[in-house]
Amino acid sequence: MAQLRIPGPTPCPDEVLQAMTKQMINHRGEGFGQILHGVIANLKELFQTKNDVFLLTASGTGVMEAAIVNTLSPGDRVLAVSVGVFGERFATIAREFGAEVTALKFEWGKAADPDAIRQALHADPKIKAVLLTHNETSTGVTNDLATLSSIVKEFDKLLLVDTISSLGSIKLPLDDWHCDVAITGSQKGWMAPPGLAMVSVSEKAWQAHQSAKMPRFYWDFAKLRSYLEKGQTPFTPAISTVFALSVSLEMMLREGLANIIARHTRVGQTARDGVKSLGLSLFADESHASNTVTAIAISNGLDASKLRRILREEHQIILSGGQQSLADKIFRIGHLGWITEADIAEVVGALKVALPQAGFRGAS
Ligand SMILES: *Cc1c(COP(=O)(O)O)cnc(C)c1O
Repeated sequence: MAQLRIPGPTPCPDEVLQAMTKQMINHRGEGFGQILHGVIANLKELFQTKNDVFLLTASGTGVMEAAIVNTLSPGDRVLAVSVGVFGERFATIAREFGAEVTALKFEWGKAADPDAIRQALHADPKIKAVLLTHNETSTGVTNDLATLSSIVKEFDKLLLVDTISSLGSIKLPLDDWHCDVAITGSQKGWMAPPGLAMVSVSEKAWQAHQSAKMPRFYWDFAKLRSYLEKGQTPFTPAISTVFALSVSLEMMLREGLANIIARHTRVGQTARDGVKSLGLSLFADESHASNTVTAIAISNGLDASKLRRILREEHQIILSGGQQSLADKIFRIGHLGWITEADIAEVVGALKVALPQAGFRGAS
């Protein structure tokens, strides 16, 4: 079996895959309601939140859009903090729906600077909301959300956070860190297939929702809330993925959130130590390197597409390339969800064999 080491979709345990072979059920029936309520309760525990949590049938980008259209109106001023491709995407969605976006961009590979955010909020008191990415999957950087969110709250702004590739994998107490809307997707750290997105909505976000005028129909949080009271989703959900997620969440709770976070910390460290031991360098500033994805700089003669082809064809290991302008600058190892240190050791072992074959001349 191939080792899929990309930052989503991630591999699923057998129990989770088995759950997807079950026959369809009535999504307006009592049986589905019980499963849905169980999934929501377990998500709240793993999100460490008392806020509302909803399940939508979408990929992660769908809930990025939902976060924006449910809380903002055209013309609202938004500070979009970006450290990579996904931060840019969040800003673009806000702009497309008519928000007045102030872009605060940081060099790719670096984390967002708290002081710059404080200055930007100082400079424009009319800003209503701040868009942040917790874990920037395109660069392998984890922002210091504890610090950044406390600054956003000093100014009492609405905080919308892309936690798609961090929630459930790395430390992220949503309520302690004042996340008004936080979002994630089933195919990232949740050990489930693609198809579902999850969102948490705070009281402050609900207040924003009351006056928010951006167009929305499929994504409306109010519909999600009223249907959830009946144990339903407003529209037909990806039922098989709900079955899968309900099993993977039980597995996660059996392991325990603290153990899951500790495992990702060890796995992240193993990945970084491993690639450095081969003479490769990290793309991300190491003090903010992510424990769910490692981005590696292409250097010293390395042909990264050839490397990924050798790994795929001769070692059955699938790694990711870089996105957009990072395509010829980095490659990435995804290590979130169903992953152990031994899995990463296998990747490092294969890299050791394949690197010289792909032109890498070792550290200069
Ligand atoms: C994967 C990812 C997304 C987009 O998710 P899709 O499911 O592909 O729509 C957005 N933000 C981050 C940080 C991600 O890792």
